[in-house]
Amino acid sequence: MDDWTDEQTMMREMVRRLAREKLLPLAARIDEEEVFPEVAFRALAGAKLFALAVPERYGGAEADVTTLCLVMEELAKVSPACGLMVFSTQAVYRALRECASPEQADRFFPDMGQGDKLASFVLTEPDFGSDAASLRTRAERRGDGYLLNGAKVFITSASAARYFLVFARTGPGEREQGISAFLILRDTPGLVVGKAEDKMGLRGSMTNQVILEDARVSAANRIGQEGEGWKILTEVANVMRLWGAASMALGIAEAALECAVAYARERKQFGRPIAGFQALRFMLADMAILVEASRSLIYSTAGMIDQGRGSKPEIESRVSMAKCFASDAAMKVTTDAVQILGGYGYTRDYPVERMMRDAKALQILDGTNQIQRIVIARNLIQD
Ligand SMILES: Cc1cc2nc3c(=O)[nH]c(=O)nc-3n(C[C@H](O)[C@H](O)[C@H](O)COP(=O)(O)OP(=O)(O)OC[C@H]3O[C@@H](n4cnc5c(N)ncnc54)[C@H](O)[C@@H]3O)c2cc1C
Repeated sequence: MDDWTDEQTMMREMVRRLAREKLLPLAARIDEEEVFPEVAFRALAGAKLFALAVPERYGGAEADVTTLCLVMEELAKVSPACGLMVFSTQAVYRALRECASPEQADRFFPDMGQGDKLASFVLTEPDFGSDAASLRTRAERRGDGYLLNGAKVFITSASAARYFLVFARTGPGEREQGISAFLILRDTPGLVVGKAEDKMGLRGSMTNQVILEDARVSAANRIGQEGEGWKILTEVANVMRLWGAASMALGIAEAALECAVAYARERKQFGRPIAGFQALRFMLADMAILVEASRSLIYSTAGMIDQGRGSKPEIESRVSMAKCFASDAAMKVTTDAVQILGGYGYTRDYPVERMMRDAKALQILDGTNQIQRIVIARNLIQD
């Protein structure tokens, strides 16, 4: 399994050190305050983690999928909220790396390659979440550009992002056929960042509404052809939930297991460490099984993608399986970690309650686990 290249190992070690030294002391406060974590952002920018997916010739790391998984896992062990900042930005940059024209790459990547800019992936609308193909935000052609109108919700990092990858309906096609993608800059008149969500978990990651009111974007900033937005979305999203939600879930579950084992060895009841009670030993064993199974599914799939192995439906199913399995596993492992810590686990003196709240989000974002099961079943049954 762990046959990483030297570059992947170095990246993992660097991120692990950075997370422990710079993010760990901030993680609880970031969660409590729920404001943009400026200090954490600067630490991540200093390590150029916001340029991971940018091509090397523009100053980025041109990270492969395995490397992205390793980075997200390490960040999520300490602060999934900070991980989400990196994830949202790299999701946009990876979409551009695969779908932008050479002219667009020359225009956008030099700035993105500096590694200190955030980007938002702007898809979800108030009335259309899972059913994203029905989205209503409109982009109407006006001369050499478009006027965008609509409302988006749940947009990660919108309050601080410089770039917004917006999915909007250009028509005339129905549903998937009529959707196009646009890269919009923050200072575009008509792009307004609205209300911030007051979330259960991932509270250090800002989540806002984005309103578009006659926001004008040049046709030169349309990514791909008109009507290709859905293709961009599915091709990029199908892989991004592996290094996004799945890898973050793995990191959270590992951290919760580590915390539960350490506590069970220390805490004494009935004159002996609670780790000696078989009821808890079996719980810990089951947690470890879930963590290792998640890891295997994630990294074997990442390896397949990086090496170009497997058919498209096979990869799509495996990514959905990894997302579902790892996030359900993280929910179970963190809930059991709270149980093992007893009353203390239910307090903010220990991080496991935060891990449990953070894990819940991963069963929802990046395509809910119900939607992932629909994808897996569709590929299985082929109907
Ligand atoms: C912390 C966080 C960050 C996010 N960041 C972003 C972001 O950066 N950009 C962005 O665009 N979006 C983002 N989202 C939105 C996220 O992608 C959506 O919440 C998600 O896709 C689900 O959409 P919804 O909330 O509208 O739920 P709905 O689609 O309304 O679903 C409600 C319930 O119905 C189920 N359901 C729906 N359809 C079916 C079906 N056909 N069969 C079975 N069950 C079904 C769902 O699984 C869910 O349980 C974020 C969300 C969160 C919580």
